[in-house]
Amino acid sequence: MKPLNLFLGLLSGCVCLGPLAAGEKSLIDTTRSPHAKFYMPDLGDVRWNGGLLGDRFEVCRTVMIPHMWTIFADPHESHAWDNFLMAAGLGEGRGTGKPHGPPFNDGDFLKWVEALAQVYAVTKDPKIDAEMDRIIEVVGKAQREDGYLHTHKIVPQRRGQSGAVAKEFEDREHFETYNMGHLITTACVHYRATGKTTMLALARKAADYIDQLCKTRPQELARNAICPSHYMGVVELYRVTREPRYLELAKQLIEIRSLVPPEVGSDHNQDRTPFRESTEAVGHAVRANYLYAGVADLYAENGDATLLKPLLALSHDVAGQKLYITGMTGALYDGASPDGADHRQHRYIKTIHQAYGRDYQLPNLTAYNETCATIGYGMWIWRMLTVTGDAAYADLFEQTLYNGVLPGISLEGKDYFYVNPLKKLNDFDYPLRWSRTRQPNYKSSFCCPPNVVRTIAEAHNYVYSLSPGAVWVNLYAASTLDTKWTDGSRIKLRQETEYPWNGAVKLVIEDAPAAETTLKFRIPGWLSPDQIVVKLNGAVLPSQFQPGTYGFIKRAWKAGDTVELAMNFQPTLWEANPLVEETVNQVTIKYGPLVYCVESNDLPEGVRLEDVALSLTTPAGFQAQRESIAGADVLTFTLNGLALPRRDWVKGELYRPVTPAAPRPVTFKAVPYYACGNRGDTEMSVWLPVR
Ligand SMILES: [Zn+2]
Repeated sequence: MKPLNLFLGLLSGCVCLGPLAAGEKSLIDTTRSPHAKFYMPDLGDVRWNGGLLGDRFEVCRTVMIPHMWTIFADPHESHAWDNFLMAAGLGEGRGTGKPHGPPFNDGDFLKWVEALAQVYAVTKDPKIDAEMDRIIEVVGKAQREDGYLHTHKIVPQRRGQSGAVAKEFEDREHFETYNMGHLITTACVHYRATGKTTMLALARKAADYIDQLCKTRPQELARNAICPSHYMGVVELYRVTREPRYLELAKQLIEIRSLVPPEVGSDHNQDRTPFRESTEAVGHAVRANYLYAGVADLYAENGDATLLKPLLALSHDVAGQKLYITGMTGALYDGASPDGADHRQHRYIKTIHQAYGRDYQLPNLTAYNETCATIGYGMWIWRMLTVTGDAAYADLFEQTLYNGVLPGISLEGKDYFYVNPLKKLNDFDYPLRWSRTRQPNYKSSFCCPPNVVRTIAEAHNYVYSLSPGAVWVNLYAASTLDTKWTDGSRIKLRQETEYPWNGAVKLVIEDAPAAETTLKFRIPGWLSPDQIVVKLNGAVLPSQFQPGTYGFIKRAWKAGDTVELAMNFQPTLWEANPLVEETVNQVTIKYGPLVYCVESNDLPEGVRLEDVALSLTTPAGFQAQRESIAGADVLTFTLNGLALPRRDWVKGELYRPVTPAAPRPVTFKAVPYYACGNRGDTEMSVWLPVR
């Protein structure tokens, strides 16, 4: 920092940084990460041109974000904003003077602010800027002078209370580092969107507090690294500030996990074994995925091969044994870890909440699949793509975005899933902890709604990426890219497509450097080689494009050049590995990247969902039609299936002899899974038996 800037910075309490270069205003800035294969365009450089994801962004901007503020601002619906006001000395919290709501609400509120910052980067709406200024002022007043931010402790501290109620890091389930981590991440996005350092100054204070704790009480800090959003946050802060001490802090945060004593560590929090010894995903899936994402961020910077090795093993373990076809993770409400010091001893077995199960343990009716776990998985897998360039990770990212993230919120944008089952039957009315119908609010845990809103607000950042002399097309969606490489050269590209409703994609170059540039485009791994045709300026190219890789064309591009991809995908029946007991002899429908499901309101009169099956010998005869569900344009399929004669089960009847009966042909409809539950409280199933 120059002396004058330092002086002015000290005077105003602001952080003084140089102007941001191309790529440094991106969601995740890997422009200078030595072990990243590419970097993202800036936050406002990709624009949707309608389409499925563009429509979701518009609903996010116009409904999801403003509606969520009405929840946060109403103390009868949420305590998050109220707690910040109290901590800032600006309110009385319904007159009780006590913070309320879940202790991780600070971080959840800040995720929503991140969504605001992203939308501002696209729209430059001055009202959003002013709204963020107002919020940041309150958050700044709520934050303690030493950088600590957790309203549940700050409020009693400011009221002179002592004891456990006011003591920080007393209870690891208070998520203090999670809250501060989201402050740091949101501040990076806010700075990149606005150029203002007001929130970044708060983030630095929080990171400095964590840094101090890391030096003085590392074991305590490690023990409290619950849902460690601060790993990603601190690496991103390093990328903004370029101060090596923040990268060193990120490294230390991973190293100190080994300090958690065996009697405290558990698979629940992934701290029973040191990270480098991890070979399979365990425990609370949100915590696991946030941890893995943070480690991948660190690897992108320091290239520590001892971090990459477990990351690869873990990602293969999840994709190969523990991932739902919808790209969701964390199958079990309550699991158990028998992997203690001596697994033969019952006393070492620990319970695990919202857990990665054992291999192939993927129930449908009782699936947990917290929306945050899916989002955490997406963040982790994106980072795996970033550090490997392996198109298989782009496939996984797309799978989880469409089928895991999008269902987390209703099409109208006001109701949320906390858990995401793949099957819902009204007769299965066993009360579980969370509703299997989307809800307008979750007062005891509002982590998922703002997480899904920020992810939808930010989805355009993942469509394209850049590396020296190359532009990557990772996702197919109607959009425009207008960006610059770090060397200042410009690329402008328009993507015309109705994907995922069909596989025709046209990439139109509008501006490109004079020098040869490589256009890389993902050939999805779920295509067969004969399902892809690539044309350059109308001429078919030799069939050298392998599914599961990035195809590429290198040339000196001129304005008007076109590349067309014809991905000839059709609705297809998929099956699961038979070791997944819950889906034995069942199939599901996939169309391109989308998983489909059948809902009870699309069945013929008198046919129940439990009685419906598909035939492997009679073609399903998929008939595609475009229609509107809850105001959203979707592609549905009418298909031929079978229905068994109904014979009701008596309550308490668990088994009975089979009555032979011939199934009769029926016709019904399948809808994209992400659109389920938007036409009333329907029964639903992703998987259907085959007869
Ligand atoms: Zn959540």
